[in-house]
Amino acid sequence: MKFGKVTPEILGELTAAVGKDVIFTEEIHRMAYSRDWSPREDKDIHLPDVVARPRTKEQVAKIIEIANKHRIPVTPFAGGTGMGGGAVPLYGGIILETKGMNKILEVDVDNMTATVQTGITIWDLNQALKQYGLYFPQEPESKKASTVGAAIACNNDSTFGIRHGRMVDHLTNAVIVTGEGKIVRLGRRKALCSNSGYQLNWLLVGSEGTLGVIVEATVKLIPVQKTRMVDMIVFPSLRDAMHAIRDIIHAGLALESAHINCRQRLKFYTHSYKEKYGHEPEIPDWAEALLGISFASAEEKNKVVKFSRDYALKICQRNHGQVVKEVEITDGWWASKYTVNFTPFKQKWPDSQREKKFGAVDCGIPIGRIEDAYKRYLEIAKKHGQQILGMCVYHERPNRLSPSISFAVFVDDKDPENVQGFYKYVREMSEMAIAMEGTSATYIGDSEFKTPWIGEVEHQEAYEYMFKIKKAFDPNGIINPGKKFPIEMFGYER
Ligand SMILES: Cc1cc2nc3c(=O)[nH]c(=O)nc-3n(C[C@H](O)[C@H](O)[C@H](O)COP(=O)(O)OP(=O)(O)OC[C@H]3O[C@@H](n4cnc5c(N)ncnc54)[C@H](O)[C@@H]3O)c2cc1C
Repeated sequence: MKFGKVTPEILGELTAAVGKDVIFTEEIHRMAYSRDWSPREDKDIHLPDVVARPRTKEQVAKIIEIANKHRIPVTPFAGGTGMGGGAVPLYGGIILETKGMNKILEVDVDNMTATVQTGITIWDLNQALKQYGLYFPQEPESKKASTVGAAIACNNDSTFGIRHGRMVDHLTNAVIVTGEGKIVRLGRRKALCSNSGYQLNWLLVGSEGTLGVIVEATVKLIPVQKTRMVDMIVFPSLRDAMHAIRDIIHAGLALESAHINCRQRLKFYTHSYKEKYGHEPEIPDWAEALLGISFASAEEKNKVVKFSRDYALKICQRNHGQVVKEVEITDGWWASKYTVNFTPFKQKWPDSQREKKFGAVDCGIPIGRIEDAYKRYLEIAKKHGQQILGMCVYHERPNRLSPSISFAVFVDDKDPENVQGFYKYVREMSEMAIAMEGTSATYIGDSEFKTPWIGEVEHQEAYEYMFKIKKAFDPNGIINPGKKFPIEMFGYER
């Protein structure tokens, strides 16, 4: 069995159902949705048959109903900044572009929630929330382009994960359109805790657009943060930096962010220093880890922030840390994480990746094994001919050492061998993480690259149950095919 194609008759059906202004067929439109931010060969693009840009959940339902009838793939596409090929329409069909669904449906100030159409970007949502003094803290660096729906689908890492957590800490309910075109609400209205039934809203978190199109979501908010202090500290080892975070948390201080970078990543934060002084800053030879931290408060001129920061720096010193004095470096790091005010073309990913692409493996490694994992990363990247960019350890659950690690390399997308080497690197790093009792994916997901082997390598007997869940939401396997489950599991041929 093969997937269906959008024939002129089916195109007629689609436009009759949702209107001509929702369906785009010109090649120039289709090209724009033929790849995402994942490292892939220049020529490795996948053209959809058509692009649909619905504005309502009812339109989404009509499109999917027609697609399901004809077994046509439907791939949800938001900002296209995904790094694993998640939004790439591998088998053609319909790109369901979500950014036309960008309305805020309700801001409930008393209950501190926002209900939105999920095509709104995280940036736009936060701009609109300012007037209420509220803020959605689930913020990836890509917030200007990436949407609330994709943040749910990808289970994003946030700059503020160690204080405010991840999507599971925010999402109280969501509305999806299933693979049969049914509109279904999952979750608990505005309650964040429940043990009634199964927590199906959380099943969507990290689902990578394989269970349906998420069209609406209700998320918890926090007050706008008005006071903040940011610091960077160098340590002689990754272990010392981890211990410093542990001790800060258990001293009772509320870190807002805590990211450990390996030595290689330092150069991404030194541009403004170099511009000012004309040379690279001097970093002690012994420095192997660079910890960036912040403390924040919803009050103006808050003394707790200053106290917490001073106390935390003492704890860092106790763990052999030395505060980075050059404010330009700390500012550079914070700008790259949070403000998005990079100096044009001089941001942390040099020259906007014109020469080479940023590629990463996103592993979760148990806290005691990070040093070992780092050594293995250097070896595995070298073995597969990858240029090392550096490791960054994020912590993504409130008040926990909870590593989500980006092991990054530069990939030359004009060199097919180098791109193939990247895919081998992804697999070997994933196997390493699992052998260390961790996980292969924390924020990029299974996506396109891990799907062919993820069942065997990561899930074993649980994979069969996952597939049953997939079929319950999408019986014909038309929603984002080739992601999480190879299409052959549904009986399709390539
Ligand atoms: C410069 C840069 C910085 C980044 N920083 C971070 C970071 O700090 N933290 C982090 O976690 N990631 C980061 N990423 C990765 C990426 O931005 C995130 O994964 C983000 O969530 C992708 O959002 P998007 O809107 O671009 O989604 P897309 O790439 O368009 O889609 C991503 C996946 O979500 C699915 N999807 C999208 N919308 C829906 C929907 N409504 N319903 C169902 N499925 C849907 C797609 O099918 C696809 O599988 C970064 C990427 C770049 C390029």
